[in-house]
Amino acid sequence: MRLQSFLTDTPALLVVSLALGVAAQDRTTEQGEAQITDGNQECTPYFYAPSGNAIHNFPPIWTPATILSNDTEAMQKWQNISSSVPTNIQPKGTNQGNFTGVNYDIANDPDCWWSAHQCTTPKLAGLAPDVSNVPEPKTMGYGFDDGPNCSHNAFYDFLQQQNQKATMFFIGSNVMDWPLEAQRALTDGHEICVHTWSHRYMTSFQSQDAFAELWYTMKAIKLVTGVTPTCWRPPFGDVDDRIRAIANGLGLQTIIWKYDSNDWRNGQGGITPQDVDNNYMQFINNATSGTFDGAGGIMLTHELNNYTMSEAIKFYPQLQSAFQHLVPVGVALNKTQPYVETNYSLPTFQECKLAGLVLQTIADKCASRRYQRHDEQDGRLEQLGQ
Ligand SMILES: [Zn+2]
Repeated sequence: MRLQSFLTDTPALLVVSLALGVAAQDRTTEQGEAQITDGNQECTPYFYAPSGNAIHNFPPIWTPATILSNDTEAMQKWQNISSSVPTNIQPKGTNQGNFTGVNYDIANDPDCWWSAHQCTTPKLAGLAPDVSNVPEPKTMGYGFDDGPNCSHNAFYDFLQQQNQKATMFFIGSNVMDWPLEAQRALTDGHEICVHTWSHRYMTSFQSQDAFAELWYTMKAIKLVTGVTPTCWRPPFGDVDDRIRAIANGLGLQTIIWKYDSNDWRNGQGGITPQDVDNNYMQFINNATSGTFDGAGGIMLTHELNNYTMSEAIKFYPQLQSAFQHLVPVGVALNKTQPYVETNYSLPTFQECKLAGLVLQTIADKCASRRYQRHDEQDGRLEQLGQ
């Protein structure tokens, strides 16, 4: 009855709002999608032809990946790298992370299994250590896992307003679901890394399936953004030397963390919002008290849901004050070629520090707090100190 009355009483208003709602939405381009501010509208599925028409070239989304039987390119690649993947390291537990009954020498940790003791220095020859901190002092390797989140526009708008870039660890299934949101990360100047196809525990997979989890995420990101990542982060940190060897064969550097905000765990296992705030504050206090004066830090944070994104926004000013530099992990590593494609580059860390004196185009790719602060407060640019 009330609906009827509303329709009768305000037809003109209804027509106008409907027209605005529909006409304002362009869900075929990154720019159009980035302008949607209503979370429900953002998360209403849309069809994007380049990925929508290619779904049969990928495993079903959100299911553990395997190499498709007609995918000769993937099979060829797997054959090329499989000889460097150890066969004496067995899969561990279930892909939901149940390790009950796993027969493993945890004390000696022969596989450098992160889930056992946070091991980051492989025992298998030829593998680089995981990145768990960054070499640049007073620097935070700033990044977010589990995107692209369909309702991330407000968060990405915030980062854009701060001229702040970050590393986005994207799940392949999310990329296929929300391709224009994935595109936005690249357009905004963020760095994109792989966070697997179905977000399961990687050490549980048979080697060929673990390969597929990484391979199809790389392919999905390439399909919708045009670039192929060279970095990845294992969900739950669950990696060992077998999985590292597979990632290494695909040219992926393993990025982990030393500090966990536990934002992803809010409401589970007794973790409260206060706990998450405390974890952020602990990290911030560590920075203020000199913990990162020798080498910078990485904290695990997420674009998983509105709560984790609002936490990121809430603590941004304090992180910015506590660290001299908040930059994507790749920038903090001085990795100027973040992708396989060579037509896209990141500035070096030094260039970021001097960005105010050099080029706006470089500054745009950086996140120098001092540059920004001078720009905003003084209306002029000053040379940046160390
Ligand atoms: Zn994750």
